[in-house]
Amino acid sequence: MAQSANLGFPRIGARRELKTALELHWKGQTDAGALEAEAKALRARHWHAQRDAGIEVIPSNDFSLYDHVLDTTCLLGAVPRRFGPTAGPVSTAQYFAMARGSADAPAMEMTKWLDTNYHYIVPEFEEGQSFHLACLKPVEHFIEAREQGIHTRPVLLGPVTWLSFGKAKTEGLDPLSLLPAILPIYAQILRRLADEGADWVQIDEPVLVTDLSDAQRRALTSAYTELAQHGPKLLVASYFGALDDNLDLALSLPVAGLHADLVRAPEQLQALLAWGTDKLLSLGLIDGRNIWKADLGAALANAEKAAAVLGSNRIQIAPSCSLLHVPVDLAQEEELGAELKNWLAFAHQKLAEITTLTRAINDGKAAVADLLSQNAKAIESRRTSPRIHDPVVKAREAKVTEDDLRRRSSYPHRRVAQTARLNLPALPTTTIGSFPQTGDVRRARADHRKGLLSDAEYDQFLKDRTKDCIRRQETLGLDVLVHGEFERNDMVEYFGEQLSGFAFTRLGWVQSYGSRCVKPPVIFGDVSRPAPMTVAWTEYAQSLTDKPVKGMLTGPVTILQWSFVRDDQPRAQTCRQIALAIRDEVADLEAAGIAAIQIDEPALREGLPLRRKEWDAYLQWAVDAFRLSSSPVRDDTQIHTHMCYSEFNDIMPSIAALDADVISIETSRSDMELLNVFSDFDYPNQIGPGVWDIHSPRVPSDVEFAKLLDKAAAVIPANRLWVNPDCGLKTRGWPEVEASLKHMVDAATKLRATE
Ligand code: GLN
Ligand code: ZN
Repeated sequence: MAQSANLGFPRIGARRELKTALELHWKGQTDAGALEAEAKALRARHWHAQRDAGIEVIPSNDFSLYDHVLDTTCLLGAVPRRFGPTAGPVSTAQYFAMARGSADAPAMEMTKWLDTNYHYIVPEFEEGQSFHLACLKPVEHFIEAREQGIHTRPVLLGPVTWLSFGKAKTEGLDPLSLLPAILPIYAQILRRLADEGADWVQIDEPVLVTDLSDAQRRALTSAYTELAQHGPKLLVASYFGALDDNLDLALSLPVAGLHADLVRAPEQLQALLAWGTDKLLSLGLIDGRNIWKADLGAALANAEKAAAVLGSNRIQIAPSCSLLHVPVDLAQEEELGAELKNWLAFAHQKLAEITTLTRAINDGKAAVADLLSQNAKAIESRRTSPRIHDPVVKAREAKVTEDDLRRRSSYPHRRVAQTARLNLPALPTTTIGSFPQTGDVRRARADHRKGLLSDAEYDQFLKDRTKDCIRRQETLGLDVLVHGEFERNDMVEYFGEQLSGFAFTRLGWVQSYGSRCVKPPVIFGDVSRPAPMTVAWTEYAQSLTDKPVKGMLTGPVTILQWSFVRDDQPRAQTCRQIALAIRDEVADLEAAGIAAIQIDEPALREGLPLRRKEWDAYLQWAVDAFRLSSSPVRDDTQIHTHMCYSEFNDIMPSIAALDADVISIETSRSDMELLNVFSDFDYPNQIGPGVWDIHSPRVPSDVEFAKLLDKAAAVIPANRLWVNPDCGLKTRGWPEVEASLKHMVDAATKLRATE
């Protein structure tokens, strides 16, 4: 018999109960015991939901109070010294200090988990580090479930992935050299799980879908040769892509089972089956990264293929990865509309899909004929719906030519035209777009949504804020102003709400990090722009001042990257449709007399595929989309872009190919060092290296600003330099914003005088 299995369930709760509990605890309103009680209730609810859905292989230890990578760090006793005693078990206070920082120790770094929007806490390694079993959570949760009558398959993060995704703090230390030191702890925990009755353990090794070094390959082989000897059978889980050139390696690991992602990489099924393995194969057939209902007919065909070759005893039907990356329950969405809802599946609905497939394999299709035919109808309705397919969009998209991707003249010509029109001083000062979203702004938005504030009242409120913002920028002496983005809740949602082809859930939250969740829009259909989205606000702001006001847009790649994207056409195509919509907005802003337009692309880099060999294709279409959106304008209209990071080493040619007249990036935290990449590359256009780290409430002095500017001017010719903060200011308060910007403008003015 085939088994239905799950690899992980969202922890945050259908109503973000974990978020609420965590934030109360952090405010000091509840103790660790109360937090743990809430967490325990959530775990119980999730285990029972999985059992009730008919899932036979239910995970435990997939739950985490903050992050499962941090949990692994604690399991291994790898607590950095700055968080206090490292010998005993890790306390709750220590755990949260590692995640969020404490009065005397800055938090550990956080970064994106592979190509997801989930952020993990980066393990830190140092020379001579010792490890010990410092947390028994995997065992405790196994027992906790067992006491509720649920036999689980515990999940551990694999040693090679844990080491590979950590960072050595001692120069020259190779994280993989620590493998022999951590394997005994993994062995201990496996033995203890076996003692408690665990027969299988899932070990996640998503490194298996990345480009591996020889050292990583050797590490995987030696790790599993060792760990396979300690008790439970091991299922090594790969996900988020194809095993590809690591397929032989994965299949040769001496473990009892392997999980493969057949949503991202359906083609690998053939190779997996051809290998003639004696392993149990967990078939990742249901998409754990997206919210679409599965095509059960197609999935079943693959499951049947596998069952025919391996025998149904040797297969499990599973999601492609943990369900951590999808919202919890579609049933809660009462406002989506029946048609759209019928195309979607969240975590709960995905469990049902898994069970249906498993029953079809074990009991025959007839046993689930109704479910299969309902599913087929839903799939067909989505395939043919006029809500999805807009012939006008498709026709326009087909007509895009190389010319549409090009500005009229090359940068040096544009520069001359823009200098004449904008008439800016050397080292012009500007900001990245948003100004403080203070309590009253958020309250007004909420009141407006609830109907407590009329459209006219809300509009007037926003106008007042915008006017106030323009006045303050004028007083500060900034050169290129912005309207402040008070009307925007979020840089993607604001545009999505005005574009056709987008839908919004009410409770479709996905954990981003810790208690933070995002609610990505759903791009379900062809995208177009029924009406201008930002022109009125920008025009209004421009009417209040003689200084140029930058129009402020979110770029097509970022809108794509931060949404749930349709899976019935290539991402590149959806991105091009969004680009055309933004292009229309750019043209309208120009027609309204706006001389500078910024198109933010903070997500361009994070869209890079996991495999290097796929980078070029991605960068090609991503850069093309930006160019398509930004190039309908005259030479004297200045296009800006902004990215919230500065790791451009690998992708400098693509950054230059965007051909933005001005790019602003984050550099203050690295003390301008990261600017070297731009100078080494001879980046030809203008650049605004962020001189103020807006992630911190600290007000830098004018001397600090001057130092950073000097550093920048040493690598980038001053006539190409702009002066601006690292990112938008919406999370900051007005006092620190005004004080900091004043120092920033003062420093720029002084440097100008010496140039
Ligand atoms: N224009 C946006 C802002 O200032 C940019 C935000 C971002 O880059 N993440 O808020
Ligand atoms: Zn930014």
